[in-house]
Amino acid sequence: MNLIAANWKMNKTVKEALKFFNDLNSKTDEFADNEVLICPSFLALSEISKIKHEKIKLGAQNFYFEDSGAYTGETSLLILKGFCEYVLVGHSERRSIFKEPNQLVNKKVLAALNHHFKPILCIGETGDERQKNKTNEVLSQQLKACLKGVSENQIKNLVVAYEPVWAIGTGKNATSAMAQEVHEFIREVLTDMYSQTTARQLKLLYGGSVKPDNAKDLIAQEDINGFLIGGASLEVESFVEIINAAK
Ligand code: PEP
Repeated sequence: MNLIAANWKMNKTVKEALKFFNDLNSKTDEFADNEVLICPSFLALSEISKIKHEKIKLGAQNFYFEDSGAYTGETSLLILKGFCEYVLVGHSERRSIFKEPNQLVNKKVLAALNHHFKPILCIGETGDERQKNKTNEVLSQQLKACLKGVSENQIKNLVVAYEPVWAIGTGKNATSAMAQEVHEFIREVLTDMYSQTTARQLKLLYGGSVKPDNAKDLIAQEDINGFLIGGASLEVESFVEIINAAK
C-alpha cells in the first residue's frame, strides 16, 4: 500500500481546512487502496481530529523534542498525543528557513519514535549539490546523522521522504528515472545501516512538485512507495487525482 501524504504548510484557515477535510472525507469510497495522510496547521489539526476519519490519517508538520518547559512558541509530542499518528521531521523549509541541523532532526526523530509517533524523515540535496555530483554523499550523510541511535526495531515505524530541494514548490519535479535512482541508493544506505529485509520494508516517499500528471510515472518506479505533496494537496480535486493515480 502506498502512502500519499499532504503537507499543507502554513496554508488554509481553520474554516478552509475543515471544509477541505469534510469534502475529502466524503470521497474516501472513491479512493484507490492507499494510505492517505493530511498534515494541517496545529489549530486545524485540533479541529479536524474531532471529525470521524477512518480512512484518512493525520500528521503534524513540526514539534519540539522536549516534552514540556520554557520553549516559547513550541509544541511537544505530549501536547500532540491523541491528535495525530505521523509527524514530519527535517523538511527542507525547517532546515533552510529555521536553521534546523541534522543533530536537531536526529533528536526529533528519536523523540517521535520514543513517543510512538511515526516520523516522516525528509532528506534531499540542493540544486547546487546535485550539480556538483554530491547528491549521494549529502543523502548518505543526512540519513546517518538523522538516524543516529535509531534501532532496527524502531526504524520500522519511520518513513523516509526524498525531497530534492530544487524540486520543492518549483514545478520542476525529478524525472521518474532520477527519483528511482536516488530511492534505490537510499535503500542501499538503509541496507548497510540495518538489513536488507528491513530496508525493503521501509516506505520511501518522493516529494517535489508531484502533480496529477506526473504521479503515475513516479509511482510506477520500484522503490517509490508514495508521495509527500505540497502545492497539489491544497485542492481536493488534484489531491484525489494523485491518490487514484498512485494505485
Ligand atoms: C513539500 O513541501 O513537501 C513539497 C513536496 O512541496 P511541493 O509539492 O509543492 O513541491
